[in-house]
Amino acid sequence: MHKPINTASTALPIGLAYHDNKLCFDGQSLAELAQKFSTPLYIYSENILQNNAHAWWQAMRNNFGEYGEVAYAVKANDRIGILRSLAHSKHGNIPCSADVVSEGELLRALAAEIPPQKIIFSGCGKSNSEMKNALEQGVTHFNVEAEDELMRLNSIAKSIGAIANVSLRIVPNINADTHNKISTGRKKDKFGIEPAVARKLYLQKFEAIQFDGVAVHIGSQITKIKPFQDCFRVIAEWCEFLKNNGVQLKRIDLGGGLGIDERGQTTPTPEIYAQNAQKYLKLQNKKIRVLVEPGRSIAASAGLLLCRAITTKSIDDKICVVIDIGMNDFLRTALYDATHRIIPITKNNKKQNETKFTQNIWAVGPVCESSDTFGIQKELTETKNGDLLALTCAGAYGAVMTSSYNARPTPAEIIISKISEENSQSNSIQLLRNRGSIANEIKAENKAATKIHKF
Ligand code: PLP
Repeated sequence: MHKPINTASTALPIGLAYHDNKLCFDGQSLAELAQKFSTPLYIYSENILQNNAHAWWQAMRNNFGEYGEVAYAVKANDRIGILRSLAHSKHGNIPCSADVVSEGELLRALAAEIPPQKIIFSGCGKSNSEMKNALEQGVTHFNVEAEDELMRLNSIAKSIGAIANVSLRIVPNINADTHNKISTGRKKDKFGIEPAVARKLYLQKFEAIQFDGVAVHIGSQITKIKPFQDCFRVIAEWCEFLKNNGVQLKRIDLGGGLGIDERGQTTPTPEIYAQNAQKYLKLQNKKIRVLVEPGRSIAASAGLLLCRAITTKSIDDKICVVIDIGMNDFLRTALYDATHRIIPITKNNKKQNETKFTQNIWAVGPVCESSDTFGIQKELTETKNGDLLALTCAGAYGAVMTSSYNARPTPAEIIISKISEENSQSNSIQLLRNRGSIANEIKAENKAATKIHKF
């Protein structure tokens, strides 16, 4: 979602529909949720979350049989309730494994009862203590991104009598045709190991390292198949290299990266992605696990951020609507120029005109930064102070990037789940995380300040 904002597209994002002019998410009235939990509020739909994960799983199984796997990228949304839901999906026997990039994410995945053997430790800066703790927790798969990291992992594993299964994350030097700040597979990016170094390392023997695969990740919010095809071609060459050099290839990690459109639909579909992976990797009858690590395409459309208009004023040729979420609640627009539709919770059926703004509506946050803005929003023409609004497709890279900047409390987070009863279904709402409390932060800081450390 890094295209210019935003066609007043008539189709609503997945899961949203007006009933009696009131916007509902997964059948649940958003106005009622605002009344109970207040705003700003992250709201997730377990139903959409699991369906998105299932689409990936189905695509990988269709094309790679039992060797096709989905390792959810925990960074997209690491809330325990989200991870638990993915690990124990209603679709039954298809729990996701997990891709983590820090010890904190690992702890969260373990807390959601994802078994350590199903967790892959990725990330371009693993500290010694993170690697040691991961090995001690039973994590066996590492995607390594530097020669020095490999040496450190080898000595740590040796010192505790463990063996680390390693895929080197290679640099494919592919332009993913996405926003510069989420491109990760070019020579100039900070990620991965350059091919010459990776080839040298794969030919070496290490006491506590077992090379068993190859990994790659070219970026996020990729909406065309071509960069993936280029990447699969490069990986196919690596598979050939590893085979010819005696490395027993057991897994190929293709990284994450399918993008979504303004409705939250993946473009292309997971099925097209997996078909292409199959076509280019040419793995028929080889017993090699093929993993994809989607984050955004599983979590984004499963979440929205409910907010309220606080103030409206004219600025230049625009009407500026200040809403009660800022870059501390949702950083993606300020950080990546990401476009997210903001839509009204109550549909106004008045005839054309009366209260409608005719100028562009510019949604902005209350944080004291010029970058704290959410773009021109064509669907907010009738907004008044106090109106409830929904920022859509906010489930990925939203809540995980919140902060208390400007001493603003982080939003509360809830999840809607379906409960089946006799012949009907109802919703249950679970609080995933309380709203942050600045009063509690002040207490904690005052307490910390009572301890003086002398050096
Ligand atoms: N895997 C790795 C190594 C990543 O860095 C990322 C995100 O950038 C992902 C998976 C998830 O990507 P996405 O959310 O685009 O699917």
